[in-house]
Amino acid sequence: MRHKIIKLYEKAEKKGFALGAFNFSTNEILQGVISAASKLKAPVIIAMSEGERAFFGCEESVAVYNAIKKKHPHIILHADHTKSFKELKKVIAAGYPSVHFDGSRLSFRHNVRETRRAADYAHANHVFIEGELGGITGGSTTHNERLRDVLTTDMLTDPEQAKEFVELTGVDSLAVSVGNAHGIWVDKPKLDFKRIKEIKKKIGKFLVLHGGSGISPSSFRRAISLGVNKININTEIRVAYAHALLKGLHKRRDYVPYHYMKDVISAVSKVVEKKIIIFKADNKI
Ligand SMILES: [Zn+2]
Repeated sequence: MRHKIIKLYEKAEKKGFALGAFNFSTNEILQGVISAASKLKAPVIIAMSEGERAFFGCEESVAVYNAIKKKHPHIILHADHTKSFKELKKVIAAGYPSVHFDGSRLSFRHNVRETRRAADYAHANHVFIEGELGGITGGSTTHNERLRDVLTTDMLTDPEQAKEFVELTGVDSLAVSVGNAHGIWVDKPKLDFKRIKEIKKKIGKFLVLHGGSGISPSSFRRAISLGVNKININTEIRVAYAHALLKGLHKRRDYVPYHYMKDVISAVSKVVEKKIIIFKADNKI
């Protein structure tokens, strides 16, 4: 499976688009993502963080993935922000074909050591692995602060260190801190394009941008042109989901979930469709 995923990233690199990675924690979010991907003929990554997996069920998410991939072979299941070797082993045993090992809270030396161990294990099991270097701050929700007051220069990924990290760990792709952060902030994130360009040049690997919610379409397009291959979106989906659910419950005529949940699915789908088009991932199947 790792080989197939590498081929998909190579296609994105060659054709100048980015793969959207959309997080889900409920079946309606998943339905919304699949509906958008099918409509636009786009390959997509469906992702689950540790918290989302704990809620949905790790093995359950793989079972659902196995059921949908028969109809939708261009969808890849990915374990987002896996923070320990124990959890990594768990998701690989469950059947995840792609994982993100997040050792970014560790010192550089420890991050290298833990990620190397994770990468060796993932590769031995034919699983694609993304590493992380630099501090991508915030959680996937709305924040009442300005990102520019929170983000400090020392959190940003150093291009030279990124090169060393990739060489020492053997990861397939790298998530970096280049002005991005998780969640939606009072101000819009300002990406450091010079840094993106420099990192891409140094690492020669696939580049990942977390915290895509709130970043402007023109910034996305520029980041993709500089070598970003995968972009994670979570908070914008969560916000659309919650607003549509509140509205749906308010105007419902009955208590039938598949009546009032229809609008929730289409609200999620709309967010995902917009991103797929911005990422130029439509008609890439
Ligand atoms: Zn993230």
